[in-house]
Amino acid sequence: MATVRVSDRACLNNQLIGENSEMTTERDDSEAKERTSLHFVGTGSCTPAASNDTTCFVLNDRVLIDCGWCAAMSLLQSGRSALDLETVLITHCHHDHYMGLASVFFYRRMQQAQLESEEELRVFGPNEDIERVVERARMYLQMDRFSAVQTTPEVIPVQPGEGFELGELQVRTAPTRHAVQGMAYHFTDTRTGATIGISGDTAYVPELADFFHEVDVLVMEASHGIEDPDPEKASHSSVRQSASIARDAQVGEFYIVHTRIPPSKQAVEPSEAVAEARAIFARSHVPAPRTTLML
Ligand SMILES: [Zn+2]
Ligand SMILES: [Zn+2]
Repeated sequence: MATVRVSDRACLNNQLIGENSEMTTERDDSEAKERTSLHFVGTGSCTPAASNDTTCFVLNDRVLIDCGWCAAMSLLQSGRSALDLETVLITHCHHDHYMGLASVFFYRRMQQAQLESEEELRVFGPNEDIERVVERARMYLQMDRFSAVQTTPEVIPVQPGEGFELGELQVRTAPTRHAVQGMAYHFTDTRTGATIGISGDTAYVPELADFFHEVDVLVMEASHGIEDPDPEKASHSSVRQSASIARDAQVGEFYIVHTRIPPSKQAVEPSEAVAEARAIFARSHVPAPRTTLML
């Protein structure tokens, strides 16, 4: 199992070192090319906090997984740029996971004009919704009136369960249980052998433990906080349920995201979430926004 190095942003519970973790204090670009990196751009729930975007991540500095409210700005605050992105993968088309698409499109076109580049993004997402969402982001930018922002991303609708390749990354997907069609992602970086699982928003689906079997890093939502949801109505997971997936999948390290903040009834303090999760799976963490894992 790969060693996971954690940037100095550390974890909100101040206990960042897991059994398989070591700490790195600064970004090393030469090393980044040889290792697998997962950067937590935002870790929030459906609305952002002042210094924490809604949940989205960057894999190997070029694949954005979900597009938070303020993704273009949040990437800059992370020392990154939407200009460096090649691909956007959307887990599901709820607003907190795609809201930033229009500003990412706009930022890229404005910056690309200076660089005389017209590289288009590829956007993968659930086949029931992704084409409509990308088209409406384009409409919002009034591309028919403003030729300078004209952009035509390649949209690839994915049926949950399908797999594909993105350069060095082998990508598999699995259906989640949520209010709209959604999918979890499983990545294998063929250069390093590192494996990463990302749940998206989902109710407890025991089969996800098979899908995430022995991944080095599992990132999973726990929007429902401490109380388990009513199984009939659930579309999110509790901390306990997500930690159970981490335990059953025997993952390396488990990172809890998409937890709610007050005044939500499901709000949970990071220390409380970690204590609850560690009772089930010891190597559980709540990452701070702008934390990077190097594998
Ligand atoms: Zn969400
Ligand atoms: Zn959702």
